[in-house]
Amino acid sequence: MDPDTNNLLPEDIFRIVFEKSPGSILVKADIPRFTILAASDNYLEVTSSTREGIVGKGFFEAFPDDETIEHDETAARKIFTRVIETCQKVDVPTYKYDIYNQATGKRERHFWSCTNIPVMDEQNRIAYILNTVTDITEEVKAKEEAIESESRLRMATEATGLATWELHIATGAFVYTPRLAEIFGYSAEAKPTLEEIRSHITDEDMDQIVRPSYRNALLTGEHAYEVRIQWDDGSAHWIQTQGVVEFDAAKQPIRMIGTVLDITESKRDEIRKNDFIAMASHELKTPLTSLKAYIQLLAQKLKKNNDPFIINALGRANNQVNKMASLIYGFLDLSRLESGRLQVRLQTFDINKLVADTISEANLVNYNHKIIFKPQAYTPVNADLDRLGHVVSNLLSNAMKYSPNGSTITVAIHTIDDHVQVSVTDTGIGIKPRDQEKIFQRFYRVENEHIRTVSGFGIGLYLASEIIQRHKGKIWVESRENEGATFYFSLPLAS
Ligand code: ADP
Repeated sequence: MDPDTNNLLPEDIFRIVFEKSPGSILVKADIPRFTILAASDNYLEVTSSTREGIVGKGFFEAFPDDETIEHDETAARKIFTRVIETCQKVDVPTYKYDIYNQATGKRERHFWSCTNIPVMDEQNRIAYILNTVTDITEEVKAKEEAIESESRLRMATEATGLATWELHIATGAFVYTPRLAEIFGYSAEAKPTLEEIRSHITDEDMDQIVRPSYRNALLTGEHAYEVRIQWDDGSAHWIQTQGVVEFDAAKQPIRMIGTVLDITESKRDEIRKNDFIAMASHELKTPLTSLKAYIQLLAQKLKKNNDPFIINALGRANNQVNKMASLIYGFLDLSRLESGRLQVRLQTFDINKLVADTISEANLVNYNHKIIFKPQAYTPVNADLDRLGHVVSNLLSNAMKYSPNGSTITVAIHTIDDHVQVSVTDTGIGIKPRDQEKIFQRFYRVENEHIRTVSGFGIGLYLASEIIQRHKGKIWVESRENEGATFYFSLPLAS
């Protein structure tokens, strides 16, 4: 035993222990005075009071405010009386009681929770009440802030028309805001299940867009896709969804959280724009074809004519018509691609020949660059001849557009394992690393002085990458700014 406590009476030991206990006072059951018999150090600290100031006094003498403020069922007098009447412990989970802070001279807002335990005497009559309080101001404030920020967030998402949802992976529990039901054609009060919501997406889109996106999200932590949905009334709508996956410490996915936005209006605009491009290019194609035929007819007729101006003028007219035709075919392909109607017609051919033919064609309009071709032995691919020709011709025309007159462009073909790789290298303006990914996106053009003076629509590389993807190939670029660029694409060899 501790030598210092050796000489203490048991009452003293209990007093010392009581005074060290968290936030407690012992109150006599002498209705209506409720004399305070003892208070712990911590109680004095949290209530900003002194032992001399409260011990020996009636509870409401020590804390007069408690008598005057109206806090109904949580008022101390009611609680103490209930403990005495019922001889049962009474808990008050949360109540407000302000404290006068002597240091600042101000009243401070505080929240508390307390328990009130009846203490019986030998005759089993209630003698005291042990009242223990805990200051929970910080927890209450944190909760209030959380509720406030949640409601701010809810107001913001509702204003933008966004729906939010959460899927718990282990339980499959799916929770969402009422807006989600509305986006899928239900009333805001309806509570469709995940299966009902998914039934508005076609099986094909589920397999090709939705499921792959979620599978990928389990690896990368993110998902985003656009998909068409059909409401129960038969109308078509478009949604855009994106979100994140939350993982635990062992990298196991816990839940997916996402937002859904109805993008039907902007999609309809896009479809209208797309239809317009398709129609305009189609209409332009017809007169252009006959123009080309007339130019060729004229060239035939004037074969014997030795006027160099006429021969030259017809040659140039023919080249310009070809250039215009390739632009129009580009737009037609773009609209086919957007509406899912771009189909590839496969045939087996030697890629060396296709590249050589495309270079010869490019040389018809190339007056300023030297194109070096490094072919290899017969290399068969199973591909769409015309579309692959467009890809090569686009890479060549870019190399010419974005490199100085007089410079050299090198085209090479290599077989690497079971793939053939075609590269087009120029020594032009090059592409910054941050633009290298983006140039394959639709309508993307790098913003700089050089580009502004060069005509283009930003669709060539987008089409090229879509065409190469449809051949199970890859397309990419390696470049340093001001040092030139090499564009590569690779395709599986025909077996
Ligand atoms: P366009 O050339 O019609 O603008 P593309 O889709 O063919 O469209 O190319 C997209 C963008 O990529 C171009 O605007 C240009 O900024 C950049 N780019 C393409 N090829 C090259 C190249 N060889 N060198 C430098 N920049 C290039």
